[in-house]
Amino acid sequence: MTCVFCSLDQQPRVQQIIYRDDFVSILPTNGPVQGGHILLVPNAHYEDAFTMPNEVYQHILAVARQFASILKTVYQAPRVSLLISGMEIPHVHLHLAPIYNHGDMDSGKVRKATSEEMQEVTDRLRSEARKTSLAPFIPIA
Ligand SMILES: [Zn+2]
Repeated sequence: MTCVFCSLDQQPRVQQIIYRDDFVSILPTNGPVQGGHILLVPNAHYEDAFTMPNEVYQHILAVARQFASILKTVYQAPRVSLLISGMEIPHVHLHLAPIYNHGDMDSGKVRKATSEEMQEVTDRLRSEARKTSLAPFIPIA
């Protein structure tokens, strides 16, 4: 079976990519705990964070830091949570979500996002990211 994150370019979700560079693609999750919950997915397949080459790991964390700032601005969140997961999809990915209260990252709060909601996250974050040094890596669409 093809990995869902390795085959992103063959899925409609490719339209919702917020940012992409040589190492990482960022898109809204379809199972958010909060509005603005996004995923940072390495372009190459790694089972977990500890098998990523240092260069990739450090790069993705640096991009996560920039997107945390963007999320704080767009969603007026006091904090942003970072969770590195990969149990449900065996291709490591980082969850980045605005949080307002203790327990906001509780997986019990996961709900199914509509395609329209996901597109709105993409549009809002692309727009804000275009104001930063990340701009060259924002898809044109
Ligand atoms: Zn994969």
